[in-house]
Amino acid sequence: MRFETLAVHAGHASDPATGAVAPPLHLSTTFARDVAGVPLGGHTYIRESNPTQSQLEAALAPLEGGEAALVFASGMAAGIALLQSLPPGSHVLLPDDVYYGFRVAGQELFPAWGLHAEAVAMDDLAAVAAALRPETRLVWIESPSNPLLKVVDVAAVARLARAAGAVSVVDNTFATPLLQRPLTLGADVVLHSTTKYFGGHSDVQGGALIFARREALAERVDHLRHITGGVASPFNSWLVLRGLRTLACRMAVQSANALAVARALEGHPAVARTFYPGLEKHPGHAIAARQMTGGFGAIISIQVSGGEEAAVRAVGRAALFTRATSLGGVESLIEHRASSEGPASRTPRDLIRLSIGLEHPDDLIADLAQALDR
Ligand SMILES: *Cc1c(COP(=O)(O)O)cnc(C)c1O
Repeated sequence: MRFETLAVHAGHASDPATGAVAPPLHLSTTFARDVAGVPLGGHTYIRESNPTQSQLEAALAPLEGGEAALVFASGMAAGIALLQSLPPGSHVLLPDDVYYGFRVAGQELFPAWGLHAEAVAMDDLAAVAAALRPETRLVWIESPSNPLLKVVDVAAVARLARAAGAVSVVDNTFATPLLQRPLTLGADVVLHSTTKYFGGHSDVQGGALIFARREALAERVDHLRHITGGVASPFNSWLVLRGLRTLACRMAVQSANALAVARALEGHPAVARTFYPGLEKHPGHAIAARQMTGGFGAIISIQVSGGEEAAVRAVGRAALFTRATSLGGVESLIEHRASSEGPASRTPRDLIRLSIGLEHPDDLIADLAQALDR
């Protein structure tokens, strides 16, 4: 089945108890057993599993082409659970521009867990090969990356990781499985912040891991989630489940809008650099065109010619774009990224990040033009 069809139907059947077409929302924290003590519906306690969370997982796994999915309270909780499942002494390769939260975790939290983080330019295959060690257990890929939209050759890095005996994980938040399916490119695990495009309406937080194979790693992470409790709540699971049914059409339009906005920005005199993998000039365009299908995502970053002050001023003048962090909702957002990231940020101070929504691109282009002019 094609992605659009799967997005509507995966993990879905009318409720056998009531005939309800929309999925039920099960809030129960505990689940009854029969006289012999066997759980009646396969669930025992909400922190271990619950029916609404399981339904979301059943929908997510086929969307990424995986055998198993686990959902979490947030994208960070998902990634941290994967990292905490590694044995002490593990060496972890992180991209040098990895999502801000994971960089902070690498610096502040890994040492206490016995993990060693090393930052590497994941778009430089020779650098990745040179950084791999016998004790490297995990190679982290983010493509396109946040906020520089770097493109990593997923198949090539996954191959290097496998040859070194390491697991590869791809943060696929920016692309979504409509545009990129890392497991089909050879990666072992996919990570999502479902807070973004899966939820799609800026009203729910969640995270997910999708595993190529239902084997020991997935079981370790499942056990870790049960014990540490970073589960998705039933209501949040229900909202993400609702959101993913429209993911294909939202993402297709947002991605097309972003290409139109990126082309307009590319020629604007106040813009020094436009980062968008759909532009032919982007250094990762050829790889992105090969490993992504149907679009290049809906995030654009720009560096303005007037430096940090000009960037902050332009953000302040935006009228249709909302000044806010995060991404992936129906409404377009604008932010001065270094300010949002805080002190550990390595983002250029003159960089503005845009999350393109479902408005008409002409209106978005006009708003950016008036914000950047003068
Ligand atoms: C937002 C985001 C995360 C973290 O997700 P949360 O749901 O905020 O915890 C991880 N990776 C990327 C690329 C993100 O954009």
